[in-house]
Amino acid sequence: MNAPWQGPLAETEALLTKLGVDQRLWTGGARAARSPITGEIIARVHDASPDECRRAIAAAHDAFLIWRAVPAPRRGELVRLLGDELRAAKSELGRLVTLEAGKTVSEGLGEVQEMIDICDYAVGLSRQLFGLAIATERPEHRMAETWHPLGVVGVISAFNFPVAVWSWNSALALVCGDPVVWKPSEKTPLTALAVQAAFERAAQKFGEAPAGLSAVLVGGREVGEALVADERVRLVSATGSTAMGRMVGPVAAARFARVLLELGGNNAAIVRPTADLDIAVRAIAFAAMGTAGQRCTTLRRLIVHEDVLEPLMSRLERAYASVQIGDPRDTGTLIGPLIDEAAWQAMSRALDDARAQGGQVIGGERVDGPGEGIYVRPALVRMPAQSEVVRRETFAPILYVLASSDMDEAIALNNDVAQGLSSAIFTNDVRESEKFCSAVGSDCGIANVNIGPSGAEIGGAFGGEKETGGGREAGSDSWKAYMRRATNTVNYGRTLPLAQGVKFDI
Ligand code: NAD
Repeated sequence: MNAPWQGPLAETEALLTKLGVDQRLWTGGARAARSPITGEIIARVHDASPDECRRAIAAAHDAFLIWRAVPAPRRGELVRLLGDELRAAKSELGRLVTLEAGKTVSEGLGEVQEMIDICDYAVGLSRQLFGLAIATERPEHRMAETWHPLGVVGVISAFNFPVAVWSWNSALALVCGDPVVWKPSEKTPLTALAVQAAFERAAQKFGEAPAGLSAVLVGGREVGEALVADERVRLVSATGSTAMGRMVGPVAAARFARVLLELGGNNAAIVRPTADLDIAVRAIAFAAMGTAGQRCTTLRRLIVHEDVLEPLMSRLERAYASVQIGDPRDTGTLIGPLIDEAAWQAMSRALDDARAQGGQVIGGERVDGPGEGIYVRPALVRMPAQSEVVRRETFAPILYVLASSDMDEAIALNNDVAQGLSSAIFTNDVRESEKFCSAVGSDCGIANVNIGPSGAEIGGAFGGEKETGGGREAGSDSWKAYMRRATNTVNYGRTLPLAQGVKFDI
C-alpha cells in the first residue's frame, strides 16, 4: 500500500502556484472545480461573462491582423518556446491533470508529453506550409496554390483530454497564423489556466506576440455557444459528445464557418484465430480499461472468433479481476475514478440495459476509493448480438464481447454502428489485416493491426467518420484546416488566352 497523499485541495493549490497561475483566477469564483479523486472542491473559478467572451474574440481578431503577417518560421519560434515551457512544467502539469481529470500519473505525464510532441511537430511544420505548382493549359502562365492564415480559431474541448486537445489545435493554429480562443471543459478549468500561464511565459520570452493571441474562457455550454456564434471565429474546432456536435455543427454552418468536429466513438477490435493472444490481451486490457474507459478511442466492442473466444475470455476475466483500482496517484493503480456521479449513472444504466438485452455482466460494481470519488471495476459483458446498448457510446469502462467467426461478418459488425473513430484487428494472417485496412475493411478514421484502438501518436491525422464528425487534427496534412487556400494564376506573356479555348475578342 502507498502512503496516504496530501488532500487534492492542498496539492492543487501548491501546483497552481508553482505553475504560475494567478490566484485570483482560481479563488472566489462561482464555479466549483472538483477533483474526481475524492470529489472534493479544489478551486473556485470565474465563468467568463458574455462581455468577456466578446472582448476576448475581438482581441484575438486584432491579434490576427498582426500575426498573419509574421513569417511562419518566426511564428514557429513562439511554439518552440511554448514547448520549452511545457517541458519545464511537465511533472507539475501532468500531476494537475491527474488531480483534475483523475488520470493515473503515467497517463497525466503522457498527456503533457503529447503537448510537447505536437509543439515539436508544429515547429518543423512552420517551414513546410507549402502549396503545389500546377500545370496550366495556357502558355506563358503559372498556376500555384498558396496557403494563408485563416482567422480566429475557437477551440472547445472535453474533460478527458483536458490539455492535449488544446495543443493539437493551438500548436498548429499558431504556426499557421491563427489566434486561438479556448473554451475548456467546465469539469477541467484548472489545467487550462495553467496552460495559458505557460503560453504567456513563452509569449513574454518571444517578445513580439500580439495581445489576445491566446485566450482561455472558462465556463459552461453558453460560453461555447458564444464562440460558435461569433462571426469572427473562422474555424470552430469542437471535441466532445456527438450530442454537442449536433448543436455546434448547424450553428457554425449557418454562418459558413469551418468546423472541425471530434466527437464520440464506439470502437471495436476483431480477434482472429491466428492472433497472438499475449499481445491481444495486453492491448485489449489497456484500450478497454485504461483511463477508466473515458477515452474517445476506448475499446468498447470486442468481436472474437469462436476458436479463441474461451481462452481469450478466461485471460481477460483474470486481468479484469486483478487490476488495481483506486487513487490514481498511487504507484500500481491502473484504473482511477470516473469523472462524476453522472458518469456512474450512465454506466449502471447501460449495464442494466445490457442485462435486459441478454448480456452476461462480469464486474461493473462500485469499489471503495478515497473520499467521495467514484471508483468502479471495469465490466466485461458477453452479448448475444450487437443490440442497442452495444451500438451506443457509454463513456465508462464497459467492454461488450461478441462472437463472430466469419471475417466479412466481423468487419460488418465493426462498421455497423453510427460512430467511426477507431478500430483494430488482431491477426497474423496478412490477407485479413490487409483487407481490414482496405476500402472494403474498417470504415473508421483509425484502423490498427495488432495494437489496440487507443493511444494514437501525433504524427498521424486523428479523427473519425460518421457521427464522430469527420474532423482531423494533429499530424499528416491536418494543418490545412487552419489555413485558407488561394489558387494563383499568373500571366507573364503578352497575350490573353482564355481557359477552355473560349473566345471573347473586343
Ligand atoms: P461534452 O459534449 O459534454 O462537452 C464537451 C465540450 O462541449 C465542453 O467544453 C462543453 O462545455 C461544450 N459544449 C456542450 N454543449 C455545447 C454547445 N451547445 N455549444 C458549445 N459548446 C458546448 O463531452 P465530455 O463529457 O466533456 O467528453 C466526453 C465526450 O467527448 C465523449 O463522447 C467522447 O467520445 C468525446 N471525445 C471525443 C474525442 C475525439 O477526438 N473524437 C476526444 C475526446 C472526447
